[in-house]
Amino acid sequence: MAKVVTLIEGDGIGPEVVGSAKRVIQEMGLNIQWEVCEAGAKVFKEGLATGVPRETIESIMRTRVALKGPLETPIGYGEKSANVTLRALFETYANTRPVRQIPGIKTAYEGRNIDFVVVRENVEDLYAGIEYDQTPTVAEALKLITRKGSEKIIRFAFELARAEGRKKVHCATKANILKLTEGLFKKVFEEVSPDYPDIEAIHIIIDNCAHQMVLHPEIFDVIVTTNLHGDIISDLGSGLVGGLGVAAAANIGSEVAIFEAVHGSAPRHAGKNTINPTALLFTTALMLRHLEEFTAANQLEQSLLYTLGIQKSFTQDLDKSSPLGTKEFTDAVIQNLGKETTFWPSRHYKPLHLGKISSPKEKVSQRDVGVDIFVESQLSPEELGKSLETIALSSPFRLVMISNRGIQVYPALGGLKPDTVDHWRARFFLKEGKELKDQEVLSLIQAVGVKHRWMHIEKLFEINNAPGFTKAQGEA
Ligand code: NAD
Repeated sequence: MAKVVTLIEGDGIGPEVVGSAKRVIQEMGLNIQWEVCEAGAKVFKEGLATGVPRETIESIMRTRVALKGPLETPIGYGEKSANVTLRALFETYANTRPVRQIPGIKTAYEGRNIDFVVVRENVEDLYAGIEYDQTPTVAEALKLITRKGSEKIIRFAFELARAEGRKKVHCATKANILKLTEGLFKKVFEEVSPDYPDIEAIHIIIDNCAHQMVLHPEIFDVIVTTNLHGDIISDLGSGLVGGLGVAAAANIGSEVAIFEAVHGSAPRHAGKNTINPTALLFTTALMLRHLEEFTAANQLEQSLLYTLGIQKSFTQDLDKSSPLGTKEFTDAVIQNLGKETTFWPSRHYKPLHLGKISSPKEKVSQRDVGVDIFVESQLSPEELGKSLETIALSSPFRLVMISNRGIQVYPALGGLKPDTVDHWRARFFLKEGKELKDQEVLSLIQAVGVKHRWMHIEKLFEINNAPGFTKAQGEA
């Protein structure tokens, strides 16, 4: 039976790279049927604010697999990119980027045996896109990390390691500084890793991870990380092995997988038969593996490696003097189908199983203990502190401290006079022996609001008797 795949050609150079993949698949004699669908610039220009028509969404719902070219969001049309819409609609929470040395491609790292996969959480973190202006001069973004989202991507990384016969998973976080958000990701990694005793589990701080990727990239096998870190280190990884012309990617969710190269639509190169289809062809190999066409995936990869590494056939991005265009390079890949190299270790790929997510085991107790009220003010820390202390006198709360940009400024810590902005966090704890009632929080906010403009509040609570909030720099 034919395997049906949604095919989105995309914008700019998209039709050329996707066309190259279609030709190769056809020559391989695979029983793949394409449902060709639209998304991107043309759709935005026709007036659809998402850039993704309903027919395309329905096709992906049916086929569960899409191969796509890059999409543009033309200036003046739509606020959100069609790529982000697709990722969100199908919750493709795992962005995977293989980083492999490709013989024949000149890089500073030739001969270093680089062969790892970056697994980036693709939905949460700062990319949830929850942003606010807090004052005319201060903006805020919420970094959301969830236990569920973390467990999904961490299990995915271990399962990917198993499916590809890999031996190590590094979890890269900034848990040393962001103790609750990045700390949660690390904690879940530590909870999940014993379920995979066959895989070595190593935590690494993200900055050290970047450092090691540059110095000793060969030590990595799988790196799993949160969204923003993953965005940066996956591009760092692509840079180690030859850049945009060769970087493949997959966006995988529980039900749908979308395959696309890392590069964009490179509009200046569109329609000139000059661009490199290698990235999308390696991406197509990832798709074939997802479709459990393991032999075909290996055959396509080997043909690419033969063309680049043995025949030394390149498009002009890799060799300026080369006479080969996109079409001629694709011809070479097709001619080399069936040829083998010894370049990449042969992996015994197995189907990827997405692990079950466990519910938290322990019973959780929660107790409200106070409130942080964020205010806009031009006062000095001393003046604001005295004012808020006076306001709290008749309430069940006491002012514990005020911080500015995360540093305690009241009571003063000593040292240099702090360089403050107009955005302050006032921390109030309940007075001894009191129970927190919402009505009292609301009365406090109202009283603060009479004197100062507040724009944001956070309830402070303990989970299992441990604070569910961090201290300000310098807070006792
Ligand atoms: P880009 O990746 O399109 O191009 C940057 C440069 O990289 C190009 O000028 C070209 O020199 C080179 N390049 C890229 N792909 C190549 C290839 N296959 N062969 C040879 N050289 C290649 O990045 P950009 O210029 O920042 O973005 C252009 C458009 O693409 C923007 O509208 C952007 O939003 C969109 N974009 C889409 C995606 C996606 O759909 N996933 C990803 C990135 C950018």
